[in-house]
Amino acid sequence: MARRWEPARAAPPAERVSAFRGALLEWFDRNKRDLPWRRTRDPYAIWISEVMLQQTQVATVVPYWTRFLERFPTVQALARAKLPDVFAAWRGLGYYSRARNLHAAAREIAARGGLPKTARELLELPGFGRYPAGAVASIAFGDAAPVVDGNVARALSRVFVVEGAPGDRARERALWELAEVLVHGERPGDWNQALMELGATVCRPDPACGECPVRSSCGAFAAGRVSELPPARRRPDRKRLEMAVAVWRRGSRVLLARRDEGGLFGGLWELPCVEATARAAVPALVGLMGRGARVGVSLGEVRRTLTHRDLVLRLYEVDAARVPRRLDGYSELKWATPAATAKLGMSTAMSRALALAAAK
Ligand code: SF4
Repeated sequence: MARRWEPARAAPPAERVSAFRGALLEWFDRNKRDLPWRRTRDPYAIWISEVMLQQTQVATVVPYWTRFLERFPTVQALARAKLPDVFAAWRGLGYYSRARNLHAAAREIAARGGLPKTARELLELPGFGRYPAGAVASIAFGDAAPVVDGNVARALSRVFVVEGAPGDRARERALWELAEVLVHGERPGDWNQALMELGATVCRPDPACGECPVRSSCGAFAAGRVSELPPARRRPDRKRLEMAVAVWRRGSRVLLARRDEGGLFGGLWELPCVEATARAAVPALVGLMGRGARVGVSLGEVRRTLTHRDLVLRLYEVDAARVPRRLDGYSELKWATPAATAKLGMSTAMSRALALAAAK
């Protein structure tokens, strides 16, 4: 019978921890993927990779990470940059709040003279939750700080039979406690990367138990419960967000607006838009663009699922005799060509809306 991990009880036996750690580190040393951020000791470059990896697959991150470091090669360069330029370099990665926090943290780090070396200190900086703080401190500085991301959580919940669904507080607490026990030993940075690598490449949602280096330590495998752990995540209820979007063209240029800071898509460029159902779209666009605006044909719609919202963008041709000096909810307006538009920080949904408008 597999032993369950229950946080109120003692840690797993030392021999079990030692066997698990030994087998996994040995496998990692022989099988780790050759990733560009594993070839550097630069804490700044490692930090950027960890922030990007929080939201995106490794294969997608590699070119973004390379371009980002070419553009902002040091923490000082990032600290000196203007936020819209950071957003532009982030374009396509989504979760712009992470880019905003990265920029804010870079300013604090540059002022301090370098990245703090422990997870405890990193946690004081903007955007450093427990995961990035542990990852950066352990990988860049050898601090014995735990990490639990989705991949690590899945693997540990199987190996140590941690019950509960993703998002359950008791489960999360148990996993962090377990990771804390496991990270204390040689090479904490390699250890954390080995756990992440196990979850990303072997102990996947559809696991490859036949190739697993820690199968003999795995409680779920021994108990025949691999398919039950972890149970499916309870999906958050998503709110439907419907926007009427103005496509106002002048030759090859289109009117863009930069959303006020704060809130969803704050600080990003977009086609001017306003929240409205399909039925209320035309009067809402006239209200946004000002009296005298003419709302023409519908150009179609773009749908996108965000973490907490189902977004619907409905596009309409718009023009008017006069260009408004300002629009409610926006800090800046500009006419932009497709080439200029491609260099601006913009959400994926809005990039798709622009592509749709260009095709019409
Ligand atoms: Fe995951 Fe299977 Fe390995 Fe257990 S034996 S850690 S379930 S891949």
